[in-house]
Amino acid sequence: MNTEHFLEVRGLKKYFDAGRPRLFSREARFVHAVDDVSFSLRHSEVIALVGESGCGKSTLSLLLMGLEEPTEGSIFFEGRDITHLKESERKELRRKIQMVFQDPYESLNPTQTIEEIINEPLLVHGIAKDKRERDERVMKAMEDAGLKPAEVYLSRFPHELSGGQRQRVVIAAALVLEPEILLADEPVSMLDVSIRAEIINLLAELRITRQIAVIFITHDLGSVGFFADRVAVMYLGRIVEIGTMLEVLEKPKHPYTKALISVIPVPNPRLRHERIILQGETPNPIDVPKGCRFHPRCPVAIAICKDSDPPSVTLSKTHSAACLLLVK
Ligand code: SF4
Repeated sequence: MNTEHFLEVRGLKKYFDAGRPRLFSREARFVHAVDDVSFSLRHSEVIALVGESGCGKSTLSLLLMGLEEPTEGSIFFEGRDITHLKESERKELRRKIQMVFQDPYESLNPTQTIEEIINEPLLVHGIAKDKRERDERVMKAMEDAGLKPAEVYLSRFPHELSGGQRQRVVIAAALVLEPEILLADEPVSMLDVSIRAEIINLLAELRITRQIAVIFITHDLGSVGFFADRVAVMYLGRIVEIGTMLEVLEKPKHPYTKALISVIPVPNPRLRHERIILQGETPNPIDVPKGCRFHPRCPVAIAICKDSDPPSVTLSKTHSAACLLLVK
């Protein structure tokens, strides 16, 4: 175990039972939601998990939170195997790994004031010895989440706030527990474009001021910008390419990553390049294609790709024989 990596995911799989294709059929079918995923996270590192909807990134986040039981594989946190903890053992862990959901309105109780919402995790976890300490923590979390001055927001209800302010409340409710990891699942996709940059800047600030690591889950590679240290690109339940943000954005190796990058809007017309439009839909995760799972849509696939299943691309590893020949 590399001690530099305080979260390590090894060979993680999550298959959901999809029932039988026909009545009396003996064939069992499974949705391969997460299919052999490995990666690690360093202290106060930001890693972006990027992929189309249905690629397994949200299931992966539920596995990391212990809200789904893995089919195979392991998750280590601070050197401890946390893959199959009992519910009673998870409480401390939940304090350290907090989640920020996509829809701030859905994740906030509309009948509670902002103060009650942010105070609640402290009560649930039995943190802070008295009301005064709880109040101090609530105010600090709100200010760190950009709800300044905090007093203005304390007695308001979620419906009285804008979408961006609501997402800041969700972030404050996570911060109040002083977590070590923020797992942000599409945290800006429900927000107006003008607000998205503010929330991403806030997360970028928090990783510096509070030394928090962030797992940023998104379908939009363009939103990762210069915020993430590393990018892991997921396709059909698997990480197909992982590297530093600059390596992946400037020198992508996997054809799928190249296609994702090619459709990121570029304001300067002179810097625009040809868009790679992938043909067809993402295959059904019940019937994952044999060989390279990307081959039915890959613009540079050759015959061997139907048989050869390449490992994910990292800078230290080469891709499959086909990609080695074809990817420049
Ligand atoms: Fe494309 Fe073949 Fe590489 Fe798969 S192995 S990404 S099909 S070139």
